Amino acid sequence: MSDWFRKHRHLYPDDWDEISTRIKQKAGWRCEVCHIPHGPPPYVLTTDHLDFNPVNCSDDNLMALCQRCHLRRQGMNPPPRTREEVLKRMKPKGKQLCLPLPNYGLRHRSRASGDD
Ligand SMILES: [Zn+2]
Repeated sequence: MSDWFRKHRHLYPDDWDEISTRIKQKAGWRCEVCHIPHGPPPYVLTTDHLDFNPVNCSDDNLMALCQRCHLRRQGMNPPPRTREEVLKRMKPKGKQLCLPLPNYGLRHRSRASGDD
């Protein structure tokens, strides 16, 4: 649990853990942007409030994002605030792309991309 979350925990509904788990389950325990499976940092799956309002826990305001995509979204100017906008503007690119392949785990993008 992050310091930020500890400090703002009171803003979240009492059943936030259940809501958050449900959103992650719905996403198949993968980041909805880069599709990386839930794992060690920076791939820990988080539930992000698209409008930055922890009180608004409607499904269309919540997205399962890995820590990396979560931070990336918040660092964008302006940050995308709808699911459609997130998916449109945050397509993984270059070295950030790790393709999850069913049954084969993760395969990193080929070194032929030239920036290794
Ligand atoms: Zn991600």
